[in-house]
Amino acid sequence: MPSVLIAEDSIVVQKILRHLASRELPFDIVCAQDRAQALETLKTRDDWFAAIVDLNLPDAPDGELIDDVLAKGIPTIVLTGSVDGAKRDSLTRRGIVDYVLKEGRYSYRYAINLVNRLHANKTIKVLVAEDSTTARRYIVELLRRHNFQAIEAENGEQALELVLADNDIKILLTDYNMPLRDGFELVHDLRHRHDKTDIAIIGLSSANDKYLSAKFIKNGANDFLYKPFSHEEFFCRVTQAVESMERLQLITAMAYSDPLTGVGNRRFFVEKARSQIAQAQASETPLSLAIVDIDHFKQVNDSHGHDVGDEVLLFFAKTLAEEFQQFIVARTGGEEFCILFANLNSKDATVLMDRVRLKIAQSEVQTEAGVLSVTFSGGVAQLPADNVESLLKMADQLLYKAKDAGRNTVIAQTA
Ligand code: GH3
Ligand code: MG
Ligand code: MG
Ligand code: MG
Repeated sequence: MPSVLIAEDSIVVQKILRHLASRELPFDIVCAQDRAQALETLKTRDDWFAAIVDLNLPDAPDGELIDDVLAKGIPTIVLTGSVDGAKRDSLTRRGIVDYVLKEGRYSYRYAINLVNRLHANKTIKVLVAEDSTTARRYIVELLRRHNFQAIEAENGEQALELVLADNDIKILLTDYNMPLRDGFELVHDLRHRHDKTDIAIIGLSSANDKYLSAKFIKNGANDFLYKPFSHEEFFCRVTQAVESMERLQLITAMAYSDPLTGVGNRRFFVEKARSQIAQAQASETPLSLAIVDIDHFKQVNDSHGHDVGDEVLLFFAKTLAEEFQQFIVARTGGEEFCILFANLNSKDATVLMDRVRLKIAQSEVQTEAGVLSVTFSGGVAQLPADNVESLLKMADQLLYKAKDAGRNTVIAQTA
């Protein structure tokens, strides 16, 4: 496991940092009390992920250890009791990631979060669209300091091509004045295809037009930075953009998934079905939709309790998700699930469904109440249909037929 060095002479501060770090970071935490001890410790391993270094140590009163650590290429976060303009400039010029004022618990948490951020940033691709080579290289250098994967575009046209070809690009920093396609056009074109959960955009420009920031944001940018900017402001904005995108992704994921089983929910299913139905109609390819419902599920709850019922639901959802990996599976109601079969008519989908029906009926479901068994019934509807609602309605009618026919049965729409 990679390591994080904490060099701090105050035992209290060291203790707080060690506590937070060991709880929150996926790294080995190694502490040192002064420069001499830190230098010895640094020699003992070579997989340092980051260092948190106090600016004033007893044997290094002027941040000497910072230069030692930076010289080894280790991303460094500096702890300091005070900061003024000159100190801030000299620290950022030395190449540190950030500095943290020792002002209490919140600031130590900030330092630890920053290490986590550096870890997460490694997986994030950032595109810098800027025609000035000097400015572009400078921004790229800053991004790499925070572990981002930085890539470059010299003009708006190239930037657009790169983003469209690579879904892993999660942040775009774009200049306004660029050849071929300017920053506005770029943002405008991108926002037609990618919303703010897919890519965060920060506009950049020099300060001669004070309306640029609003114009950029109205075009779909998340934020804006006037050049020249300080390192600190740059990282604050970029981090803020990344974190708000991550929160948005989390909220979206939550809005589309079932919290108990982790499969998609009804909203997820209906949206996916709408788009796949439209595609199937356009290409005149088959598509079918199944509704399945666990038989006599109420009895499981009544006999063994709700928690055991949940265990059965988990087993059921997991089995459907595994068996129908290449199709869309969702929990659309209490013990009701739907599967969308692109490229299959109801007859072919029912062959697959029947195989899974037998498998589930023969399964031993391990629960807190011992081994249980369950069966399900299903109805499978197919195109042509006007929309997802009419397919769901048809499948539901067939499901009820299957229940009437004695359960543990799947009935397909025949015409
Ligand atoms: P049928 O074969 O006709 O489908 O009978 P059934 O008992 O499965 O159907 P019914 O609609 O009478 O009962 C469904 C039960 O599912 C009632 C409800 O309490 C239970 N249920 C719904 N959601 C959950 C859940 O999240 N967890 C648990 N444990 N039970 C749930
Ligand atoms: Mg100190
Ligand atoms: Mg320019
Ligand atoms: Mg049921």
